[in-house]
Amino acid sequence: MRILALSDVHSNLSALQAVFRAVQRKRIDLTVCLGDLVGYGAQPNQVLERLRRRRGAKSFVRGNHDRVALGGDLSGFNQVAREAALWTRSKLSPENRRFLAGLPHGPLVVHGVTLVHGSALDEDEYLFTAAAARRSFEVIATPIAMFGHTHLPTLFRLGEDGSVDGAVFSRDAEVRLEPGSRYLLNPGSVGQPRDRNPEAAFAIVDLARLSVRFRRVAYDVSAAQRAIRKAGLPGILADRLAAGY
Ligand code: ZN
Repeated sequence: MRILALSDVHSNLSALQAVFRAVQRKRIDLTVCLGDLVGYGAQPNQVLERLRRRRGAKSFVRGNHDRVALGGDLSGFNQVAREAALWTRSKLSPENRRFLAGLPHGPLVVHGVTLVHGSALDEDEYLFTAAAARRSFEVIATPIAMFGHTHLPTLFRLGEDGSVDGAVFSRDAEVRLEPGSRYLLNPGSVGQPRDRNPEAAFAIVDLARLSVRFRRVAYDVSAAQRAIRKAGLPGILADRLAAGY
């Protein structure tokens, strides 16, 4: 079983297309998307249509931006995120609104892998530290779990001795998974990377070979920026894509 792991696409169609092009000749058995399909970017309907059209098995969980785009509480959002959420709300087509509303809230277990947006405890929790990862490991029943939300390609490992460590992978990297360890994996953000590498991030997880390949792929950043500016969204949302923050 080879899983294409995507997260935090954030209405960035150019980045999503680049990722799908990069994997088009690879065998993928399942595509997972760990939430925040929309928000920040200017192409929510195009992104949702592209994801819905993706061939093969797919499993998605919703993220906090997906929830808010449907009318959820905006109080945890800063001014820029709020403006983008309200704009997204006003633009979603009825079909895409229905699709987003039907996305399950994590944790969701598929093929023996747990999918969450923030953490296993809270859709809105950021897993930045080993201590936070440990709290999630305590409630996850599967050897491998995947998360998003931080926009950082990350692998936390719970060793057989009970120790938890973590690393961020901002370049292409392949990591072998140990059979006795458990893992929490974030593939990074497709549409708004925040690790100072502007390239779209994703991961391919091979459950038979026990390997994770963190990947980066260049995409047409200026097309995404033009769409954001043309939509009248805050300029910072365009600027940050070029720097990857
Ligand atoms: Zn996000």
